[in-house]
Amino acid sequence: MLSVVRTSLRVTAAALCWAAVVVVAASTVANSQSQGRDALVVRFAGRAETSAEFISAYGDDIFAREQRMANALMNKATTSAALIRETERSGFTAALLLDKRGHVLSSSPAHPGLHGVNLAPRSSYITAALAGSQSVSTDILSAPGLVPIVAFALPLEGNGGVLTAGFDFEHSPLVNFLAVSSISGTQGYLVDAAGTPIVFGGDGANTSLNGVDPDRALSGPTVVDGRLIVSAPISGTSWRLVLTAPESAVVSPATSSDWVAWLVLGVAALATLVGLVVLQLVGSSRRRVMDAQAQSEEQFRLTIDHAPIGMSLVDLDGRFLRPNSQMCRMLGYEASELSTMTFRDITHPDDVEMDSGLVRKLLNGLIPHYEREKRYIRCDGSTLWVRLSVSLVHNAAGKPLHFVGQVQDMTEMRAAQENLERRALYDSLTGLPNRGLLVDRLTHALVDHRRDEGLLAVAFCDLDHFKRVNDSLGHHAGDLLLQEVALRLQDSVRGSDTVARMGGDEFVIILPRVTSLDLATSVLDRAKLSVERPIEIDGHLLTVSFSAGLAVGGPDDSAEMLLRDADSALYAAKKNGRSRWEIYTAAMRSHALLHLSVEGELHVAIENDEFELHYQPIVTLADRRTVAFEALLRWRHPTRGLLLPASFLDVAEESHLIVDLGQVVLRQACQFLARHPDESWRVFVNVAPVQLGRDFNGVVRRELEAAGVPASRLGLEITENGVLNAAGSSLTEMQELRDMGIELLMDDFGTGYSALSSVLTTPITGIKLDRSFTARLGQDEASDRITSTVADLVASLGAHGVVEGIETDDQCSRALHHGWVHGQGYLFARPAPEASLTLPDANAQLVSPGHAADEVAEAELVSLSPPSPA
Ligand code: C2E
Ligand code: MG
Ligand code: MG
Repeated sequence: MLSVVRTSLRVTAAALCWAAVVVVAASTVANSQSQGRDALVVRFAGRAETSAEFISAYGDDIFAREQRMANALMNKATTSAALIRETERSGFTAALLLDKRGHVLSSSPAHPGLHGVNLAPRSSYITAALAGSQSVSTDILSAPGLVPIVAFALPLEGNGGVLTAGFDFEHSPLVNFLAVSSISGTQGYLVDAAGTPIVFGGDGANTSLNGVDPDRALSGPTVVDGRLIVSAPISGTSWRLVLTAPESAVVSPATSSDWVAWLVLGVAALATLVGLVVLQLVGSSRRRVMDAQAQSEEQFRLTIDHAPIGMSLVDLDGRFLRPNSQMCRMLGYEASELSTMTFRDITHPDDVEMDSGLVRKLLNGLIPHYEREKRYIRCDGSTLWVRLSVSLVHNAAGKPLHFVGQVQDMTEMRAAQENLERRALYDSLTGLPNRGLLVDRLTHALVDHRRDEGLLAVAFCDLDHFKRVNDSLGHHAGDLLLQEVALRLQDSVRGSDTVARMGGDEFVIILPRVTSLDLATSVLDRAKLSVERPIEIDGHLLTVSFSAGLAVGGPDDSAEMLLRDADSALYAAKKNGRSRWEIYTAAMRSHALLHLSVEGELHVAIENDEFELHYQPIVTLADRRTVAFEALLRWRHPTRGLLLPASFLDVAEESHLIVDLGQVVLRQACQFLARHPDESWRVFVNVAPVQLGRDFNGVVRRELEAAGVPASRLGLEITENGVLNAAGSSLTEMQELRDMGIELLMDDFGTGYSALSSVLTTPITGIKLDRSFTARLGQDEASDRITSTVADLVASLGAHGVVEGIETDDQCSRALHHGWVHGQGYLFARPAPEASLTLPDANAQLVSPGHAADEVAEAELVSLSPPSPA
């Protein structure tokens, strides 16, 4: 509403102004009359411009320009962005791209909201272009929301559409004025404040005012050198409109009747007035556009400045012109600082060359824009990863003006990406390369090895009995232990070596380019020494032992082959007593293969009844009388002879075949007992932890019943870790077994990490001290102290105590001295088949320390009686 009022005021002012000019002109006419001349009539002899004149005046390359633009557009998506770019590049101010029926596909900014509108019925030149001929129109094409344009239409090859390009009425003073001159008359100029013509039109169109001083005409119509000049300011602008015509053409003798002259003059004035009103309307419309432009520029500036991504104009030398706030924030510089820098100053040195190359290509027009990921160096020296897109802005004449750069911070995304990559390649617990990366590195090392001097050695390493740490101290402690071991292994090797974690407690070390095998084994010695140093975890001082297998790469080896060989060597190291390393030999592979075939063979062996039990006496240390037997499993292998549990038990446990095998053992043990129904001694059967919690009680009960043997003849041995690991149903099961009257011994005590006190919480009835302690008896004070402490514990529990692996008299008497009642070992008897056993007395029984003390005293074997139970 306000703008309508403003416009009407301007129109009125302009009309008054022009009326004044007319009045002055009229008084000049009157003056002439009074000077004896006939009255003058101003004739406006203007004519509409033709298309041909338009073209000749404003360049006949217009169609050529349009053709270039059409070509440029032809290969691109017909997006508005492409159209706008090509419009500007070709020096037009307006353009529309129409489909073959005349619907607008895309438009330059002056014609928003036209998408889909059918312009064919509105313009003859568009209809002509659709019919296939180039056409031009000075018609003002108008439609709702459409800024009038003077346009050239070009049929597009191939798709039958039309491209119109030209000058829009509001943005081009040229077109604006032409429109005026075609309405209001003869030769005219639009002059700026300095009096220089900006545009011109009308008869004999000419850019020069031919020496006419437009200022002179301001005071009133003036005749100079035979030309009449009238001039009027265009309100709201510094421009003026100047109309000139040869005096002879515009001033002719008046007829005898003055009123006709005055009438003509009046009509002329009226026509001029109408022209001026139109001019004023055009002017105000232009101002509106200019205001809108200024407003949109401000909006544009604000939009850029508040954009969530970094944006900047960059001059052709690479200097930042208008970095936005986000750009400054990302880089840590003030806008004023950035303005003194070029993109090269803040680009990561490794990225500068690539950037410069792309900028050159942009300038040479080889690429329309580019996008890439690159690094900047922030003000604080840190690296900023960004996605940068750059395009080059040209002026209307197609001359490059500046670059526009958009920058998106990729630091977080890259960190996430790197994290993902890391996770795929590295072990999350230790940070060491995982199996995948290890195989990759080993494969490369093998390729290098074919060129390089020296050996390529691979060590497969493993912690002995690591599972016990997990089982007794929990997985958290296990994890901490693995982390510490990883660090120690890394410290033991060179920077060029790789330490990887294969999973669990398995590590692999790649030693490329070692000069000799001795050097490789010395690395293993170092690693072993380092890993086996005591490690404090959660307040516990742990000592783990370390085994390894070493293999050396041959010319035809693959990574997998080399790893398999090192694994075979590790297997050998384990078999040979652990806490050692072995170097791979071809024989090891057959061992490893054997291990693999064991599982298959075990199935067959159970079906074929290839298992038997050997029995080893458990004796009273004081008198060495047998009081019970331990049943030990043997496999009578059809080709390999009698096998000890060590060669198949692991496989049986891992494959859970031990569950079936355990039942075979129970059955045979019960049958053995059944053959001696009148005795009271027990047979102790070993139980693997996996047997528990799977209706083991039911199995025991059924086997006892089937053989007709009371539970009081049976004992079970479960390893320390098995007992400590037992939870829930397993513990209930153990309690039920105990309630049935079955003795439960904790086997191999001392090999796990259980606190002595934890024994109290389990339903066991006795402890078997592992033979590793027995072996050290008399060799160091600590072992003696430990055995005597455990004996105290056993006594305090009123439990049975058996020392395993007694091989010498000295071990026997020391065990006795420390308070142990029972023992087992080669000193007394080796495990043997039933047929060769010497059976104990009918009433032989395991006794608890209290009873034993009495017996010892009675036998007067030693003066050191074991402690009585607390
Ligand atoms: P274990 O239960 O600790 O059995 C004692 C092992 O020590 C037996 O080995 C035995 O022959 C050996 N041994 C006995 N006295 C001495 C000695 O003075 N010096 C030395 N160096 N060794 C001695 P074996 O028979 O090879 O059994 C090894 C392990 O296999 C057993 O250790 C037990 O854990 C397991 N095992 C044996 N039979 C079975 C079974 O039927 N079921 C399950 N689950 N495990 C069994
Ligand atoms: Mg045992
Ligand atoms: Mg044992």
